[in-house]
Amino acid sequence: MMGVPFEESLERRGFSLGHFPSSILCSTVGGWLAARSAGQCSGRYGKIEDMVLELECVTGTGEVLVAKTRSTGPSLVPLLVGSEGTLAVLTRASFRLHEAAKLRTFAAYEFGSTDAGWEGMRRLFQAGLRPAVSRLYDPFDAMLARQGSVKREASAKTAQTATSPVPGLGASLLRTLVGQPTLMNAIIDGLGTRLMGPAQLVLIFEGERARADAETARNLLEASSLGAGRGSYVGEGPVQKWLRHRYAVSYRQAPVFMADLFSDTIEVASTWDALPGLYHGVRKALGRHVFVMAHLSHAYPDGCCIYFSFAGRPEIGSGGSDPEAIYRVYDAAWQAALTAAIDAGGTIAHHHGVGRSKAPLLEREQGASREAFTALKRVFDPAGILNPGNLVGDAGVQRTGHPYPHAAAESTREGSTR
Ligand SMILES: Cc1cc2nc3c(=O)[nH]c(=O)nc-3n(C[C@H](O)[C@H](O)[C@H](O)COP(=O)(O)OP(=O)(O)OC[C@H]3O[C@@H](n4cnc5c(N)ncnc54)[C@H](O)[C@@H]3O)c2cc1C
Repeated sequence: MMGVPFEESLERRGFSLGHFPSSILCSTVGGWLAARSAGQCSGRYGKIEDMVLELECVTGTGEVLVAKTRSTGPSLVPLLVGSEGTLAVLTRASFRLHEAAKLRTFAAYEFGSTDAGWEGMRRLFQAGLRPAVSRLYDPFDAMLARQGSVKREASAKTAQTATSPVPGLGASLLRTLVGQPTLMNAIIDGLGTRLMGPAQLVLIFEGERARADAETARNLLEASSLGAGRGSYVGEGPVQKWLRHRYAVSYRQAPVFMADLFSDTIEVASTWDALPGLYHGVRKALGRHVFVMAHLSHAYPDGCCIYFSFAGRPEIGSGGSDPEAIYRVYDAAWQAALTAAIDAGGTIAHHHGVGRSKAPLLEREQGASREAFTALKRVFDPAGILNPGNLVGDAGVQRTGHPYPHAAAESTREGSTR
């Protein structure tokens, strides 16, 4: 079942699942479970694995199996969630529901640096606050959001044509930026907040305690103990803007590809102590190949997800629009980013899944647990007919996809979620 009709059917009865991935217009409930999805309100409601109570599925042998969350003994539910179609086809699910939120409060804050912003986020979550939405944009991403919102609102009154690959940036400027990524990333880093403006945190609290929690959050973020990193409250405006465009931002890739560029996103995560190494490590690794910006969303008391958006093309003067040259840059960027994520003690995916393209790196991240999963795969799917090559790569099953890293660049993208 598609995401929007599912949530609408709950809303008509006064309930909500609390799950709103940016892909809600084009993704399914089964896909959310299969790929361990995270919605925009994960701060309050958790990821999909925190919501599911019971699953029905059909294994590779044709057996229909019902798995329930349990209070004793092992449960199959956590194994099936995130199995990306390699163990069974998920056919039915029961979820924990919430009364649809009647009260919401919005607040946005600006910070002198991204690092200062995530220190504020960490404090909120470790103080026991659970904002439904908490998203921190680095200075460049925040600048685009500010400009893009203005432009989108102006252009919405006239026409709905997408003329620029990235909101607020002309195509030629973007081509220049991505054609010299090392230089451009260094310039952007050097300019910092002076030219681009501050990093920006948007917060939404929901439920009975929304106002009180927003007040506590404000006290925490403006506290002098945050020192030079303390946040400045800038009102509700940026949150209202974000809310209006919350599902629009991800669908702006077509003009990028039409301009012989590519763009993509990678979402990694770690505990708070490893987060600075993860952020700077992945940014640096990506930055040698592509133009990169980031925001942080999906925070927890113990850590956070970082979402890098990047755009690239072969270096100016080397390859132009030759697809092979483009693939090489794309693959090199992905390899570098995933390796840097593992080296920093992070995970290679937070909610977009592993698929085929990240499977070889999952082994390095997870080590021995791959063997246990391969054994499980043989029980659920002895003939290896369910999504061969996903998650565990070639382990014991026939592989039909293209080898990494080229698979990611092929147009199919089957099994590799975004
Ligand atoms: C524009 C855009 C924005 C996105 N934003 C988010 C976001 O905010 N949060 C997020 O979590 N993800 C996001 N994604 C990624 C993707 O939408 C999610 O991972 C989603 O959970 C996958 O659902 P889907 O229906 O698209 O699954 P698909 O991509 O169709 O499938 C994903 C994998 O699961 C398997 N699968 C699908 N259905 C079943 C089933 N019923 N039983 C067993 N296996 C199955 C498929 O074979 C495949 O291996 C985004 C993607 C796009 C394109």
